[in-house]
Amino acid sequence: MHLYERQAKAGGLLRYGIPDFKMEKHLIDRRVAQMEAEGVTFHTNAHIGVNVPVQNLVDEFDAIVLTGGSEKPRDLPVPGRELDGVHFAMDFLRQQNKRVSNESLGNAPELLASGKHVVVIGGGDTGSDCIGTSFRQGALSVTQLEIMPQPPEKENKLLTWPNWPLKMRTSSSQAEGAVRDFAVLTTRIIPNGKGGIRGIECVRVDDKMQPIEGTQFEIKAELVLLAMGFVNPVHEGMLSDLGVEFDPRGNVKADVVQYKSSLPKIFSAGDMRRGQSLVVWAIREGRQCAHAVDKFLMGRTDLPR
Ligand SMILES: Cc1cc2nc3c(=O)[nH]c(=O)nc-3n(C[C@H](O)[C@H](O)[C@H](O)COP(=O)(O)OP(=O)(O)OC[C@H]3O[C@@H](n4cnc5c(N)ncnc54)[C@H](O)[C@@H]3O)c2cc1C
Repeated sequence: MHLYERQAKAGGLLRYGIPDFKMEKHLIDRRVAQMEAEGVTFHTNAHIGVNVPVQNLVDEFDAIVLTGGSEKPRDLPVPGRELDGVHFAMDFLRQQNKRVSNESLGNAPELLASGKHVVVIGGGDTGSDCIGTSFRQGALSVTQLEIMPQPPEKENKLLTWPNWPLKMRTSSSQAEGAVRDFAVLTTRIIPNGKGGIRGIECVRVDDKMQPIEGTQFEIKAELVLLAMGFVNPVHEGMLSDLGVEFDPRGNVKADVVQYKSSLPKIFSAGDMRRGQSLVVWAIREGRQCAHAVDKFLMGRTDLPR
């Protein structure tokens, strides 16, 4: 089996994205060594559709599984978005992973929270990781904004069971001292007159996420990190060159029995198929997909599902 990875080292988001303080990377090294010993060949710095044509893989292999994750970040189209100091969370987080493991940052300008007031826009896991990373870099303050209303302290079991209960949760990074504010919409990034930024302009929203008249306010910020989720996998390059079909949300279309895409011998699993999700789902889909591919290649399989 061959595993192609765009980055310098194997491991996906676990390696480049999830901060080292949350998951130490020697755990990935250990698993990669185990998989190599089992016969997997890893090809790193192989960006399919960019520096390796996807057709090479189609020509060479009997089955291909697309597991490139859901990497297209949701943007914030407001005046000032283009200013220096407004960055996607992943650009900030990946750089810190590289810094910790003494990898080159290439030609990218350094993104650091040191000595800055930081605003993180987006209240999920990625936002939390930006908070913890900013504090470790020496941020003066970190404010996290969420457009949704503040959830209740206790869930209403009658309304939510058996689904994941909606209630106020505090991640370990948030507990390190972030100021959290809810039902807030960012309307403008305020320039500092030197190409950078000095703050953001916001407004409070109602339960229909509509701005409430007269509630405008400003927050001081020299660094704004956008962590508002991911819309779907990157279509340009590998996926568009293949011409694979997408589902209505823009993920690669494949079912959860055969994991087959719209194209012959091409499968998909994990975030690239289901959208941005969790590690446990990626593991489950990877296993089920391995079962399906083994059956496709051999006509039968002993692999568990
Ligand atoms: C910042 C952050 C924090 C998170 N924290 C948690 C958490 O605490 N707990 C949790 O359960 N989940 C968390 N998640 C979600 C979790 O990381 C993902 O659901 C999971 O990693 C998905 O696994 P995957 O294998 O499908 O894709 P990924 O882990 O995204 O791996 C996809 C890999 O494919 C590579 N790739 C993409 N396109 C190409 C190409 N064209 N050529 C070659 N390689 C390519 C990418 O470089 C990447 O390495 C977090 C996500 C983010 C962004």
